[in-house]
Amino acid sequence: MIAVLGSANLDLVVTVDRAPGRGETVTGRTFTTVPGGKGANQALAAARAGGDVTLLGAVGDDEFGRRIAALLTASGVDVSGLAVNELPTGTAHITVDGTGDNSIVVVPGANGTVARLTDAHRTAIDAAEVVLLQLELPLPLVEEAAAYARSRGVRVMLTPAPAVPLPPSLLAAVDVLVPNEHEAVLLAGVADPVAAARALAASGDVVVTLGARGALRVNGATTTDVPAFAVEAVDTTAAGDTFAGVLAVGLAAGLEWPDALRRASAAAALSVQRPGASSSMPDRGEIDAFLA
Ligand code: ATP
Repeated sequence: MIAVLGSANLDLVVTVDRAPGRGETVTGRTFTTVPGGKGANQALAAARAGGDVTLLGAVGDDEFGRRIAALLTASGVDVSGLAVNELPTGTAHITVDGTGDNSIVVVPGANGTVARLTDAHRTAIDAAEVVLLQLELPLPLVEEAAAYARSRGVRVMLTPAPAVPLPPSLLAAVDVLVPNEHEAVLLAGVADPVAAARALAASGDVVVTLGARGALRVNGATTTDVPAFAVEAVDTTAAGDTFAGVLAVGLAAGLEWPDALRRASAAAALSVQRPGASSSMPDRGEIDAFLA
């Protein structure tokens, strides 16, 4: 099983020709709402790829929370560990302008209330082969979960996003760190992503994702290239979450690293050819067919 401890949000997306300046009102073009949050995205990607997945976190007692839970359930994610509490479901308020640039305000809402590891979280972690973490829940909780999983011999995978300085004790409890190049550079304080990955690999595996250039796995002194598949990308939203979720499925199933990384790259390559986040994630059959 894969236990994902992470955020669930509803993304509220408006497109505008030009983002408003201070104190200004502009007329928008379109408005869409899309389930998101790195926890929910990674859980969905892992479940679609055939993983046995539970999402631990919280949503509000509202329409947004019910919609997210319904989507996760329809994809086979166990949401019994997704608490429903008094604050509203987390939201990301995204404005995309005519040049494709965006500005985002995130309101954590219910996500911010998941402050301590509960007995239910511990039970789910105990039953898991891999615990999948990101940084959209309170940092002390992420630290507690990583330390607990490590103490129980459960593999810990962390996507360090959004990038913030991390306590060395957290990094030491992580078996597989999966930053993108921006996060790797920021965490290591080194300008070159390869050197950054080497610096971060002191305590485990580091897989740096490099967009259309693929990824790089660093383990001790060994660096392995993970080539991207050559595809026509239309929307790379959640490519990283798809990659991480599917990598977790492979590792939880006992695949060797090269096979697990190839499946993760294939799933991400499939996802970038379709618009959206959750709507773009492939299922297991599509990944198998792509690699056949
Ligand atoms: P996001 O924040 O959009 O989820 P990210 O920055 O976390 O993305 P990336 O490094 O952009 O993650 O991409 C993750 C993986 O997706 C890459 O390692 C690669 O395997 C695959 N990928 C991304 N872009 C492309 C592309 N244009 N063509 C093929 N594969 C891609």
